[in-house]
Amino acid sequence: MIAGICATCGLPKEICVCEDLGRETTQLSVEMDTRRYGKAVTVVRGLESKPDEAEKLARELKKGLATGGSGKQGVIVLQGDHRKDVVRLLQQKGYNVR
Ligand SMILES: [Zn+2]
Repeated sequence: MIAGICATCGLPKEICVCEDLGRETTQLSVEMDTRRYGKAVTVVRGLESKPDEAEKLARELKKGLATGGSGKQGVIVLQGDHRKDVVRLLQQKGYNVR
């Protein structure tokens, strides 16, 4: 793969829309879960086949919500119950959220 060129469409990454198109068909789910000591976490699933995207998205969500979290193995876990804000942020980015 040539750096800066999309492997899917062959266009320069700056004008490639493959990632954006992929988002529309990516179905994400946002749920609350409780972890150790009964602490609430917000879990985003649906990117298990795209762990790189999950990591990138986890960073963006952590920044947007000013909270901690991780995006490992395609599952994003954010500290605290941020379901409403996470759904809104994901929809703004063009993801399908159920
Ligand atoms: Zn592309």
